[in-house]
Amino acid sequence: MPHAELWQRHRQVMPSWMQLYYDEPIELVRGSGRRVTDGEGREYLDFFGGLLATMVGHDIPEITEAIRAQAGRLLHSSTLYLIRSQVELAERIAKLSGLPDAKVFFVNSGTEAVETALLLATQRRRSHQVLALRGSYHGRSFGTVAATGIRGWSATALSPLAVTYVHSGYRYRSPFGHLDDAAFVAACADELRTIIETSTAGDVACLLAEPVQGAGGFATPPEGFFPAMKAVLDDYGILLISDEVQSGWGRTGRSFFAMPGSGVTPDAITFAKGLGNGVAIGGVVAPTGLMDCLGANSISTAGGNPLATAAGVATLDYLLSHDLQANADKVGEHLMTGLRAIADGCPLVGEVRGMGLMIGVELVVPGTREPAVAATLRVLEAARQRGLLIGRGGLHGNVLRVTPPMTVTVAEADEALAVLREVLTTVER
Ligand code: PMP
Repeated sequence: MPHAELWQRHRQVMPSWMQLYYDEPIELVRGSGRRVTDGEGREYLDFFGGLLATMVGHDIPEITEAIRAQAGRLLHSSTLYLIRSQVELAERIAKLSGLPDAKVFFVNSGTEAVETALLLATQRRRSHQVLALRGSYHGRSFGTVAATGIRGWSATALSPLAVTYVHSGYRYRSPFGHLDDAAFVAACADELRTIIETSTAGDVACLLAEPVQGAGGFATPPEGFFPAMKAVLDDYGILLISDEVQSGWGRTGRSFFAMPGSGVTPDAITFAKGLGNGVAIGGVVAPTGLMDCLGANSISTAGGNPLATAAGVATLDYLLSHDLQANADKVGEHLMTGLRAIADGCPLVGEVRGMGLMIGVELVVPGTREPAVAATLRVLEAARQRGLLIGRGGLHGNVLRVTPPMTVTVAEADEALAVLREVLTTVER
């Protein structure tokens, strides 16, 4: 069926607030490695990985086979019964997290993972006051929407939580942006302390933070940012939840989870997206003291189900045995260097930033810092027409997001860079 007809049916039956990419949305029907094919037979280089969920590439034989084998045995049993692959995956994630005496609870999505972490922190601290970073994205449930700091994605007027926003470490549009790193970090930490002292009623439960903001446009704080923030939180006994739904699994190239890599041990880490390489799975890892504080009986009917956890085990195996963190570091650096070279001759690019394979290209009206939103949409569309899929984000929707699967090669990165060079230098501004 042509895309236009499917799109027409989609609009009839699906909510208007479901975001679709492109002037004429496409249906992806097949994938192999870092390439996908649409319903009309066009092939694309996939540099967004279905919102970073296709972590190691499409149709990886080892993973496809593990999923097929489990599907042939048992799809579902529920958390009322022991599930071998669930326990095995939990053991491995607990160890990889580096958190002391850690336990894992599995759910089906990033939203539920963050919701669970919020439940733990608010329960433990007996407070519904939460700090979140400006420009954050944490999901679309009642609690996670409340803690989401991007207008257009959040709905704080109806918040079940008392959320106060603090500095994210995003320098480009910060009033502290002109300071050097040390002074910038000190200013952010001072602001955090002032906000805790003056804008909350005390007894804040937690700070919920993405180490590298995803939907926010890959705002990447400078070295020392999270240690300085954590020192302030510690003075008040406020917990730190690291939302690693995008930044986990070595994608930043620096460490398996990004927050420990920034020099801080968080109180809990949330994860999802890449773990199932596209099969829905999410979870929270936290030390026993926090994880077990919930006390109540709790189940997740399909959380950590046999199929999802078999996919998780196979994906982790693949990730670790191919040392994809090192690849993310290497190809990420190559992409970053290439994009910065493009930016040098292109006034449409305000900033190129990120870490590993989380790269943001912020587009501005040349000569200003005004967000170039329409041009961003044109770049996205022009890249697609030339066979490259990338993402979009940022506080104003003017940041290109370049996040290929972690198996991406330097040759594929060069192919993407050639498309981006052409598009960024020729697109109507
Ligand atoms: N946290 C972060 C950091 C995310 O990027 C996302 C999804 N973009 C979520 C939570 C929510 O995850 P999901 O869409 O799987 O519910």
